[in-house]
Amino acid sequence: MSKTFPVTDAFHLYDTTLRDGAQREGISYSVEDKLTIAKLLDGYGVGFIEGGWPGSNPRDVEFFARAKKIKFKHAKLAAFGSTRRKGVRASEDAQVRGLLEVDTPVVTIYGKTSALHVREVLRCSPEENLEMIRDTVAFLKSHRREVVYDCEHAIDGWKDDPAYAIASMLAAVAGGADRIVLCDTNGGSLPAEVAAATRAAIAALKKTPVGIHTHDDAGLGLANALASLEAGASHVQGTVNGIGERTGNCDLTAVIPCAQLKFGWKCVSSTSLKGLAGLSRFVDGVANLAPDPRRPWVGTAAFAHKGGTHVDAVRKFSAAYEHVDPTVVGNERTVLVSDQSGRSNIVLKAKSLGIDLDRDSPATATALDELKKLEHGGWSFEDAEASLALLLRRHIGKSKAAPFEVASYHVTARGAKGLKQDYPTALKLYQDAATKGYAPAMDALGQAYQQGRGTGVDLARAAEWYQKAADLKLADAQNNLGMLYLEGKGVSRDLSKAFAMFEAASTQGDPWGLNNLGGMYEMGWGTTVDKTKALDLYQQALAAGNNRAQQNIDRLQGKSVAVE
Ligand SMILES: [Zn+2]
Repeated sequence: MSKTFPVTDAFHLYDTTLRDGAQREGISYSVEDKLTIAKLLDGYGVGFIEGGWPGSNPRDVEFFARAKKIKFKHAKLAAFGSTRRKGVRASEDAQVRGLLEVDTPVVTIYGKTSALHVREVLRCSPEENLEMIRDTVAFLKSHRREVVYDCEHAIDGWKDDPAYAIASMLAAVAGGADRIVLCDTNGGSLPAEVAAATRAAIAALKKTPVGIHTHDDAGLGLANALASLEAGASHVQGTVNGIGERTGNCDLTAVIPCAQLKFGWKCVSSTSLKGLAGLSRFVDGVANLAPDPRRPWVGTAAFAHKGGTHVDAVRKFSAAYEHVDPTVVGNERTVLVSDQSGRSNIVLKAKSLGIDLDRDSPATATALDELKKLEHGGWSFEDAEASLALLLRRHIGKSKAAPFEVASYHVTARGAKGLKQDYPTALKLYQDAATKGYAPAMDALGQAYQQGRGTGVDLARAAEWYQKAADLKLADAQNNLGMLYLEGKGVSRDLSKAFAMFEAASTQGDPWGLNNLGGMYEMGWGTTVDKTKALDLYQQALAAGNNRAQQNIDRLQGKSVAVE
């Protein structure tokens, strides 16, 4: 806890969102995306931005060409690559030469630390590997690059053969490396192992600074980075939001506030710290990833309070259930309102919605009471702030009616295997929607009563519901009610009322209304017989998409042929 890093060369945030982060499945940054993120990271105050691996794809070459024209205020751009191949000089290795061609001030190369990997993967002598490291670093240094040397499998290699691991680091130092970074490439090391390897490296390398690069495969990416920093490392590599291959890299959005707020190591300005949540959300946006609400520090749920006692305590004393003030990292406290809420939730939530509620007023009690009843009945207000605001406004007598009118809404339903037919639930849903004035639900209720689905057959009730929906000008209901009048079901037979219903539906251009009205003219029901008019209406029905009208047209035309 005692050490402090000034925001200078003594402590580095090294960002690899654009290189290691790009290795996450599903991520495909365009050059434009990479430039946008790089500018943002520079503004944020990271020391290094690893832009990509020029040897791996043309997109990264283009990125470096365009990034070269940007004047970064704070960050140094790094190109990433590996040590030379065995058997050639670094100056003759195309991949290594490519690292110079992109013309970055910093070049980061990785090489083998583990004797086992040298034997099994590289298949060369331990000495040849050391020479590959020294030679490559020295070549890059001779071209005046700042060189960061990443020790691949550093912790595993050190555990396996500490002497060889240290020898590989010393080879990089002999070549002139500016920093040696221990990589927990497989992400499986434990914090105590990382700390021990860091201490061993610092002791052996003396003046050359040591850094750490961790992966989150064991869920320890952050813990391992912090363990290394506590052991004396002064350079930490990671990605925004921990984006990276497999389970990802060490998450800079957690390292930064942990280092600064928990350990007291100053690594970014307080203004930058306040931009942390924004940085996280912006990078998710560019990377096309949905932000994780539960991400520590920056997620939208990181400071969300739901339980009534928690909210009451936070209202009185914010530190009661918050480890830091959310605004310090640019996040905000949110209060969720649900059936677990107490008065404090409602009062705090209301305030954020611009409504002043008195904790002790009867209106607050009745609002909470209604909310709990509704939540018990299956409603949920957690994500429905506008509905909550309307409910609260009603209770404080602000306005009884909603300040808008429901013009229309659309409901879809689909069945699925395992979803049982459940008429009582369907009826309840229709009834809820009908009570709110939704005409199609009234029509659906009418059909349920007409067919006895979930109810006994009750034609009079069916007619009542159709009438309500017909009054709201729902053509389907007008047709259905017209049929009941035509057949005298649930209502006494009344041809002129039937005619009026079909006429009302047809004036709306409804294909069934047109067809039914045609039938009334053909038969002379509720009107005088007029076959020309009937034919015209059938044709309009057909044009409006009612194919059943075709047989009516055929019949009418057939008749007229017979008469002639
Ligand atoms: Zn990595």
